Amino acid sequence: MFTLPALNFEFDGLEPYMDQATVEIHYSKHHQGYADKLNAALKEQPELLKAKIEDLLTNLSTVPEEVKNGVRNFGGGYANHNLFWQILKLNPDGTPVGELAEKIKATFGSFEDFKLQFSDKAGGVFGSGWCHLVVNQEKELEIVTTPNQDSPLSLGKVPIMNLDVWEHAYYLKYQNRRADFISAFWSIINWEQVAQNFQSCGK
Ligand code: MN
Repeated sequence: MFTLPALNFEFDGLEPYMDQATVEIHYSKHHQGYADKLNAALKEQPELLKAKIEDLLTNLSTVPEEVKNGVRNFGGGYANHNLFWQILKLNPDGTPVGELAEKIKATFGSFEDFKLQFSDKAGGVFGSGWCHLVVNQEKELEIVTTPNQDSPLSLGKVPIMNLDVWEHAYYLKYQNRRADFISAFWSIINWEQVAQNFQSCGK
């Protein structure tokens, strides 16, 4: 069975950038809902219930047809949110650290350029979806967006940081002002964790 990792902060721990009500509902209703629906979708497939979600999403094409959509949508939602909560932390004025900082500079020009490019792509998602910083198959950093709950893992790219731009991620506090939410995101990134995720990809 798939269960939610515990949060590394209290529901109000990301205030004022992400409000308490949004964090609580997002985690305990939306994220929990994806886990519950994933478990329900796989109830006749006990061996898949024991798998790592990252492995199922990476090898989505080999998942049995009758549960493929469930893994794509609910498994994608489960994994995307696992990473999202993991890389959040109250961190105003935080900047990338370690080898990740060097790689961001080498890839995007500067941290400021990276912020602009990531914000631009996140803001350009039409409808519901995600913006991800990934390590691609050439071991290079790349910014990619996915619709709905699709995971970059199914594209052969390993996400090390992501931003949920579904309306449920920001509407209570920011209403239609998605750009303000994206701007606030830069004050709640756990750069030590993102750097650790980068190291885990073997660069
Ligand atoms: Mn969400």
